Amino acid sequence: MTVDSMYQEIILDHYKHPHHRGLREPYEVEVRHLNPTCGDEITLRVHVEGSAEEGWRVADVSYASEGCSISQASASVMADLVIGKDIDAATAVYEDFLTLMQSKGQAEPDEDVLEDAIAFVGVSRYPARVKCALLAWMAWRDATTQATEGSPT
Ligand code: ZN
Repeated sequence: MTVDSMYQEIILDHYKHPHHRGLREPYEVEVRHLNPTCGDEITLRVHVEGSAEEGWRVADVSYASEGCSISQASASVMADLVIGKDIDAATAVYEDFLTLMQSKGQAEPDEDVLEDAIAFVGVSRYPARVKCALLAWMAWRDATTQATEGSPT
């Protein structure tokens, strides 16, 4: 099995069996993001715990999404990677994934950090598909920023 087909397999598996899917309570912020070039949509909720002083933790991320296999699989992988992490650690993963998607297939991703998200390295060669892969991550980043910066101290 080549690396490419192994990565394809990972993406298909998340597409067919998405993790953490469905909208759950409690949550602080819900956002809806669209990728009009492909027709992908996601409604995403974040539940954070903590405070500005002691730091925030991603207690839960839940979502409802429609669209292509890349966007669906990416939402599943994203939820796996951020739930349960401190915001700083989750944001570091987000930034690594962003760098990977901007690499045009040239990056050598760190599997210890990105886990299944390394499977998207091939996607980074196709600018139109990059938007599909980033949709859920952008939605998470948006909702998390609102949840942590918008709440009273
Ligand atoms: Zn798409």
